[in-house]
Amino acid sequence: MNRNVVLKLTGVERQYGQGHTLLPILKGADFSMSKGEIVALVAPSGTGKSTLLHIAGLLEHPDGGEVNINGHACDGLSDEKRTAIRRSEIGFVYQFHHLLPEFSALENIMMPQLIAGLSWKEAGERAGQLLDYMRIGHRGSHRPGELSGGEQQRVAIARAVANAPTLLLADEPTGNLDPETASYVFDALEALVRQSGLAAVIATHNHELARRMDRRVTISDGKIVDF
Ligand code: ADP
Ligand code: MG
Repeated sequence: MNRNVVLKLTGVERQYGQGHTLLPILKGADFSMSKGEIVALVAPSGTGKSTLLHIAGLLEHPDGGEVNINGHACDGLSDEKRTAIRRSEIGFVYQFHHLLPEFSALENIMMPQLIAGLSWKEAGERAGQLLDYMRIGHRGSHRPGELSGGEQQRVAIARAVANAPTLLLADEPTGNLDPETASYVFDALEALVRQSGLAAVIATHNHELARRMDRRVTISDGKIVDF
């Protein structure tokens, strides 16, 4: 496989049980993206965006098909190996920040690095740099509850990339923000992604933001199509 392919989905299927019937959501979805690419995933609610991101992020198993991340075929792997790949290769951002409320912004960004085995000093330095990069360096000691929605999302983005993943998966990261704040947060996200050479899939309902990405895909009848 091409070395630059970060994420490749082949024939991915997923269905959910509904009473006695199965509701098919993904029906042979194919998708491939390269290093440095930012792809917008724009599709109506309920079409399977979160399902797709969870499968790509190894948080959920597909019912069929294959997920390949940086050349690792992930489907036959043990949960331990999948977790290891997820921790080293993938960063996640959700619509709601999911920051730990009892810890400061800086500590939230340090956490994944400490789990990965970095020292307190190293983790703190990188967390500080990321906060500066997201232009909230002055907010490091604040807890999430003391930050605005846009600031919380910028901390969540910094946390997602703290361990230098190769793939960033963002599930409506600005969906909870007013348009101006959304645009500002997206600017910071885009700058970070461009600078680090990450590949990013960003699910959004915001067509204006989607137009700024390299490529736009949607989910149509359980498949991923460019538009
Ligand atoms: P989106 O993110 O595009 O709004 P989702 O991936 O969250 O869509 O959901 C796609 C469909 O699958 C929806 O109809 C949703 O209700 C259903 N669904 C998602 N997760 C589950 C689940 N764990 N059990 C049953 N149905 C689910
Ligand atoms: Mg969703």
